[in-house]
Amino acid sequence: MSKFWSPVVRELTPYVPGEQPRERLIKLNTNENPYPPAPGVGAVLRDFPTDHLRLYPDPESRALRQALARELGVTVEEVFVGNGSDEVLALAFHAFFCQARPLAMPDITYSFYPVYCRLYGIERRTHALDDQWQVDLEAFGPDCGGVIFANPNAPTGHGHGRDAIAGLLERVTESVVLVDEAYVDFGGESAVPLVARYPNLLVTGTFSKSRSLAGIRLGYAVGSPELIEGLERVKDSFNSYPIDSLASAIGIAALEDREHFEACREKVITTRERTRRRLADLGFEALPSQTNFILARHSEFDAAQLFVGLRERGILVRHFGSDALRDFLRISIGTEDEMNSLIETLETFCR
Ligand SMILES: *Cc1c(COP(=O)(O)O)cnc(C)c1O
Repeated sequence: MSKFWSPVVRELTPYVPGEQPRERLIKLNTNENPYPPAPGVGAVLRDFPTDHLRLYPDPESRALRQALARELGVTVEEVFVGNGSDEVLALAFHAFFCQARPLAMPDITYSFYPVYCRLYGIERRTHALDDQWQVDLEAFGPDCGGVIFANPNAPTGHGHGRDAIAGLLERVTESVVLVDEAYVDFGGESAVPLVARYPNLLVTGTFSKSRSLAGIRLGYAVGSPELIEGLERVKDSFNSYPIDSLASAIGIAALEDREHFEACREKVITTRERTRRRLADLGFEALPSQTNFILARHSEFDAAQLFVGLRERGILVRHFGSDALRDFLRISIGTEDEMNSLIETLETFCR
């Protein structure tokens, strides 16, 4: 605590990211992609004209937005880009949720949302997941300052279909419904096609997971032109050039390689299903997942002890300290070899 901190900063509880270890570990704790980005990304890095770095990047990130618009089947006026989807989310909180009415969200979802509520002084209203660990969409009504959840949800892994999201949007029409699709490429159904029908729907996405680019920090939002303009107003009051020239070129190269993208996500999905079956064989309850991670608990073995045991053997997974998730481990999907090591190590504990 410092006397120089503002009152808001004194009260913050910042988001705690998963550990980025210095030693070589099997890293299954932050939902990164185990496969490299598209080969075209390497070509951009090799061939990028260094002299371009003298100049500020395009403040509107037109080329990247155009590439995304093509990929997602929307217009460029319906696309916003930011320095990682965490930044896009922060700007969206500022643009749409800073208001008197509370923001509604599931009680278990991406833990950054409560952090932003604190930062911006937004009141939060939480709704319990149902008995299948699924977001209970029926719980959300029209009397709120907005709705936010991840779909598929984190860290539970379940995703609702487009029709269910449309049902929610029929009820909540007077405030923004933000659907965070960070994991949608691993088996979820995107709500992007609903954007044309519902002017209050904002869908966010990221290059960090399915495009293997967590290190370059690229995220986006898709919504009606009025929502995108709202985001731009906040962005241009904060940082006019969030996307650097190199990141933009890298993002475009990643989007151009559909074959690489499909091959990587299929590998992750296949490994995920195989890992789920093997965890079940070891006595874990592994929740169904449409993401690149699995949330699993064991009826006999304590999750905190398993976490420590794995860490000692060089395997890093995520354990959350909250009451609701204390019994679970969240395991990111790595390569087949990495998951084999995980299962073999767990076998030594559980047999
Ligand atoms: C990983 C993640 C993000 C953040 O992605 P970045 O683009 O890397 O900032 C946002 N939402 C959810 C639910 C995530 O899991």
